[in-house]
Amino acid sequence: MKRSEFIKISAMSSLLVPQALMGRSKDTSDEQAPLTIKPLFCSTCGTKFVDQKNTSVNCPVCSNDRQYLPAKGQSWTKPEDLQNSFSNLITRINDNLYEIKTIPKFAIGQRAFLILTPNGNILWDCISLLNESTIAFIKSKGGLKAIAISHPHYYSSINDWAEVFNCPVYIHQNDEEFIFTKGPNITLWEGGEKELWDSMKIKNIGGHFPGSSILIVPFLSPGGTILCGDTFYISPSKTHVSVMYSYPNFIPVSLSEIKRINGSMNNIPFDTLLGAFDNQKISPNAKEILHASLEKYS
Ligand SMILES: [Zn+2]
Ligand SMILES: [Zn+2]
Repeated sequence: MKRSEFIKISAMSSLLVPQALMGRSKDTSDEQAPLTIKPLFCSTCGTKFVDQKNTSVNCPVCSNDRQYLPAKGQSWTKPEDLQNSFSNLITRINDNLYEIKTIPKFAIGQRAFLILTPNGNILWDCISLLNESTIAFIKSKGGLKAIAISHPHYYSSINDWAEVFNCPVYIHQNDEEFIFTKGPNITLWEGGEKELWDSMKIKNIGGHFPGSSILIVPFLSPGGTILCGDTFYISPSKTHVSVMYSYPNFIPVSLSEIKRINGSMNNIPFDTLLGAFDNQKISPNAKEILHASLEKYS
């Protein structure tokens, strides 16, 4: 692999920022008064809410027992504070793969992946901050054909990204109840797999969330790469992979679920696993480690 190239993306002037980034919905007519909707990001999970019925109470994502509310209580981040106080770091991993994460760390510390393919790029998972420089970088690589999301802890500001890049956001139907801002680009899919293009596909695994999914990309490594979000959680030693209902609350899934999930991975060839967070990468023996990890439970 070539040396990683780091590109620091700074927060930019708001002059060219699309309306979605400024926290305002599109006006439907020239005469319409400015909308008074004040979107907010949950500071703990990074989800953007535009409906005050969600922001007048604790974040519904963090109130779910897979997440948590901080001891000091709910806190919200204004869009302008996210734009002004944070930036995105884009790291080249190889010719066809870039990592995008926000610095300093915001919310859970999620990262997104930009995958470049001949027939259109895909963003795997999403982060809260979308600024002008990030948009310019992705457009310089050909824009996005689609965004695909592993599970609700990555819903962040998906509607803004989809609006800017004019593309669908693929979310498994099993997680529909966790979509609190359902924009026009959100495209629910159902069943076990969704075929994409250039041999890529999304596969529903379940476990953490009913809709928890992985992205299978055969061409990113010799034996195939899986981008897994935290459908599979890679340990710091990189010698173990876990599946949990809740990672922060240490709530396991049942043994029968572990066995079902292990079996669901039998026929998928891969040598590399890329997880939700920094340094979560196992290669080239990812398949062996995943199966050996899940078999420890039996
Ligand atoms: Zn939250
Ligand atoms: Zn999660």
